[in-house]
Amino acid sequence: SVAAAALGLAACGGEGAGSGGPDPDAAPSDQTVGVAMPTETYERWVADGANIKKGLEDKGYKVDMQYAQDDIPTQQQQIDQMINSGVAALLIASIDGASLSAQLDNAASQGIPVVAYDRLLTDSENVDFYVTFDNYKVGVSQANALMFGLGLLDEEFEPADDAPEGPLNVELFAGSLDDNNAHLFWKGAIDTLQPYLDDGTLVVPSKQTDIEQAATQRWEQETAQKRMETLLTTYYNSGEELSGVLAPADPLSRGIINALQNTGRGPTIEEGLPIVTGQDAEIASIKLIADGVQHSTIFKDTRELAERAIVACESMLKGEDPEANDTETYDNGVKVVPSYLLPVQMVLESNYEEILVESGYYTEEQVESGQ
Ligand code: BGC
Repeated sequence: SVAAAALGLAACGGEGAGSGGPDPDAAPSDQTVGVAMPTETYERWVADGANIKKGLEDKGYKVDMQYAQDDIPTQQQQIDQMINSGVAALLIASIDGASLSAQLDNAASQGIPVVAYDRLLTDSENVDFYVTFDNYKVGVSQANALMFGLGLLDEEFEPADDAPEGPLNVELFAGSLDDNNAHLFWKGAIDTLQPYLDDGTLVVPSKQTDIEQAATQRWEQETAQKRMETLLTTYYNSGEELSGVLAPADPLSRGIINALQNTGRGPTIEEGLPIVTGQDAEIASIKLIADGVQHSTIFKDTRELAERAIVACESMLKGEDPEANDTETYDNGVKVVPSYLLPVQMVLESNYEEILVESGYYTEEQVESGQ
């Protein structure tokens, strides 16, 4: 592609295997961006993909977008194919952040820049940029929401004057261990809960307090529901009360809530359902929050993330360094990947209207129907 560029030919756009990488002189319409997404089972990734595709196409780029059904070999093949077809840049939301080193090496050898989308690509030097949210803060907010729901924190998230003395029983869930985000969510949450676990205000009857024990492989709802069922039958079979559950993503929250309701808890918080946290502000969970069932979620505006990713891609296609706002946090094991982090917001029954409906993210009808 160097020779092609020297001759003033378009180096991108799929003329022949392996002729990818940016050509600052090429028109957007002669450049294809490869977009690798993990799964369509989570609402957010469907929205992310649609936003990215539309945003890139609006700027004139061609887009090759593929979902991998949470299957690692499928994602590897999809990226191999994108590289072979000569994409100008790659945007990747991985399934397993450490499983794409061969693809990343191959991309680098052809000068194709790689942006990691929301999930860090680890164990590789060949990741150029990372766009995501403040993932540690997601965990902190989840823990704060849990403690607010339990009455331990007041509305300013300071220790409440009339806090229950405890001990309050809680159980903890984490995401998929091969997703770097899961570790940051967990760390943010545990750092925040630790003083309360240490002084006995909060107790985990199952004693499953390591991320390995709390993890949910591939973030599957079914897996979280089953684990909750097992915890309930094993540790809560003699009338022990469960007050709250730390859940790291809305589909898992809903699985956990199913397990709780199926064993006669609730159906609402007012009627005794434990406090359950969440993440992603999925519409089905916003309905549950409006109905007083799920206690909270964390809103991450994926429209803004898509936008950021596109801006970063464009910079790289022009041969420039994308604008970063964090160059310290995201050590992928080989290097610190320059990153752009977006803010997150806690959503509760008291503020979902303002944050999600008044802002136009969802309509009132969507919240009512949960779809
Ligand atoms: C994302 C979350 C999402 C989870 C499961 C994480 O990497 O940051 O928003 O809930 O994956 O898809």
